Amino acid sequence: MFHYEAPADLLKDRIILVTGAGDGIGRSAAWHYASHGATVVLLGRTLEKLESLYDEIENAGLAKPAIVPLNLDTAAEHDYIELSNQLYEEFGRLDGVLHNAGILGMRTPIENYDPITWEQVMRINVHAPFMLTQTLLPLLSQSSDASVIFTSSGVGRKGRAYWGAYAVSKFATEGLMQVLADELENTPNIRVNAINPGATRTRMRAYAYPAEPPETNPTPDEIMPLYLYLMGPDSRDINGQSMDAQGEGSA
Ligand code: NDP
Repeated sequence: MFHYEAPADLLKDRIILVTGAGDGIGRSAAWHYASHGATVVLLGRTLEKLESLYDEIENAGLAKPAIVPLNLDTAAEHDYIELSNQLYEEFGRLDGVLHNAGILGMRTPIENYDPITWEQVMRINVHAPFMLTQTLLPLLSQSSDASVIFTSSGVGRKGRAYWGAYAVSKFATEGLMQVLADELENTPNIRVNAINPGATRTRMRAYAYPAEPPETNPTPDEIMPLYLYLMGPDSRDINGQSMDAQGEGSA
């Protein structure tokens, strides 16, 4: 596991948007960001899940979050622009974005891959983070220390049979992160990196590996040190890196 002990006030007064905040790794990250002082913007497609996390954060006496119900499969350019305008009016800046929402699609040979599913996976996993990043960059540039984190995967670094659009989308995610990080190399107030969570006990993992006992893998809460490190000021000099949440690194 990546080793990092986050100070309790690591993200004090920061405004951080998390996509796919209603479940799995995104839910845990949003909770941890909030409990380290951030005001979190919870973006997801299932309102009840976002509301349940909202209540949990509010009941814990943490900074009041914001909810953005948005289906990244069907969102159009104007939805992203509207979101950016809303956030600008409410907060005037953004200090972090965790691009976490994603879908698995099918596990099948390329030869049989359903083209509609292929497009859907690419839309949610790649096009949505691109659109969000593009429309939110003006808000991120208002921050003195902004962190953008993309979510990769082991199959986004080395292709693996039957992982189809999911693997290709994660290669594209690594590419998007690298291109953007290089473009922002001389913009010291915004850094861009990626996290490979590694096998983690979530609904997606259970769907991908139905026969695997869930307790084989760490919970989302257990992989949070890297999510905190890359979002907070201690990673200020890190840009363009793809890091493993369950790797051996320490900070
Ligand atoms: P989950 O399936 O548990 O959660 C995915 C989240 O994304 C959910 O909150 C889901 O919302 C949201 N989401 C999916 N589609 C959309 C959409 N169209 N619009 C808005 N939100 C959407 O997955 P994990 O937590 O396991 O995965 C999180 C990230 O980590 C993904 O990018 C995944 O690829 C990556 N990853 C996960 C690994 C693992 O072992 N778990 C390993 C490697 C990478 P809802 O709950 O409403 O469906």
